[in-house]
Amino acid sequence: MKPRERALEIVSALQTAGHTALWAGGCVRDALLNKQPKDYDVATSATPDEVEAVFGANKTLAIGKSFGVITVLGPKSAGPVEVATFRRDGDYSDGRRPDSVEFTDAKEDALRRDFTINGMFFDPVAEKVIDYVGGQEDLKAKQIRAIGKAKERIDEDKLRMLRAVRFAATYEFAIEAETLSAIQENANQISAVSPERIGNELRRMLSHRNKATAFELLVESGLWSEIGPSQSQRPDPVERDQLRGSLDRLQSDDFSVVVAALCQRDDGLPEKLKSVWRLTNDEVEKAQWLLKALPVIEQAQGLAWSQLQPWLISKHADEGVQLVEALAPGEFDASLARCRESLTLKPETLNPPLLLDGKSLVAMGVQPGRHFKRLIDQARAMQLDGTLSTREQATEWANRALAEGGDESDAAN
Ligand code: ATP
Ligand code: MG
Repeated sequence: MKPRERALEIVSALQTAGHTALWAGGCVRDALLNKQPKDYDVATSATPDEVEAVFGANKTLAIGKSFGVITVLGPKSAGPVEVATFRRDGDYSDGRRPDSVEFTDAKEDALRRDFTINGMFFDPVAEKVIDYVGGQEDLKAKQIRAIGKAKERIDEDKLRMLRAVRFAATYEFAIEAETLSAIQENANQISAVSPERIGNELRRMLSHRNKATAFELLVESGLWSEIGPSQSQRPDPVERDQLRGSLDRLQSDDFSVVVAALCQRDDGLPEKLKSVWRLTNDEVEKAQWLLKALPVIEQAQGLAWSQLQPWLISKHADEGVQLVEALAPGEFDASLARCRESLTLKPETLNPPLLLDGKSLVAMGVQPGRHFKRLIDQARAMQLDGTLSTREQATEWANRALAEGGDESDAAN
């Protein structure tokens, strides 16, 4: 069963039991935009107890019951659907979540939502849009507009500033003037929002093909100077154009690659951004690797193969090449061509088996120790650069290097 069918079934069941029940919020917006909704949320006049009564205790979860949400379980293929009782939010004394909720009607439930395009309902049985907030008009005009007084709505919940930017960037909408100036006025309050929620929004808008627009809007709204990497928090117009252009050219939408592009060649920055953007260890490591790989890829043309090859065998090499293309278009064409060509080599050509390894050294009667790794590394470099081409040659070379007094570094040169 498709999620849509299940969400329709749930609305029908509630309506049959005498309640008002509608699809609400993001799924209505997406359906009107002809986009596949991520999930369907149902809003209803039924109280949580009444929702439980309609679907039965073993088909419902009460995790969100205290704020009026019952999760209705369904077939695996459709997944669970959240059914929320129409509510009005109480005061937001902490600017994050309402102090209390009160159950109410559909209209008031629409008014507590953030933006007009997110504040519509759809009755899937009658196939009718129910729009108390002018969401349809703003969808047509392609704009993000706060419901009610923008200043107050943003004051209530500062996360809405980032949500506005995310919806505007990913849907290619404008932020309506009053809403934008309310964001600009409140941008310095964004730190009231937890790093998890900030990181989640940034990840969603920046690991997206419209990441350049997201960056532009973050700067324009004043949010970037609060949560961007320190070096580029107040980019001058030239830097801003450069960063925007880089993101625009960057093919990869992987978050680590985007983070690397925003770090302006400072490989210490990903670690500093880690706590602010809640990056994972893997994301930090990947961004650091990419920033370290940049100068290598840019100079690839002039490097010995043994210097370049260890970077190209990384699983991130392809994205490293994309990063250089995006950051410095046209500047390193010969190096990029060499890298790209090398990356098309068969795996066994790009990264052939070692001619000299630990096993072969043990077989030669060499005692394991520090010099092991040095011998193996030197033999590997000579192999990659074409000085050694068979195992026999490699063994012979190692024997000679050992005989010449143990200073293998001379033997390799
Ligand atoms: P998406 O799921 O694509 O991020 P969405 O609009 O469905 O978009 P959700 O976070 O799933 O976003 O929230 C569902 C609905 O709840 C929204 O459409 C909106 O009506 C309301 N909503 C969500 N977050 C807020 C908020 N911070 N302030 C006010 N209303 C909100
Ligand atoms: Mg949603």
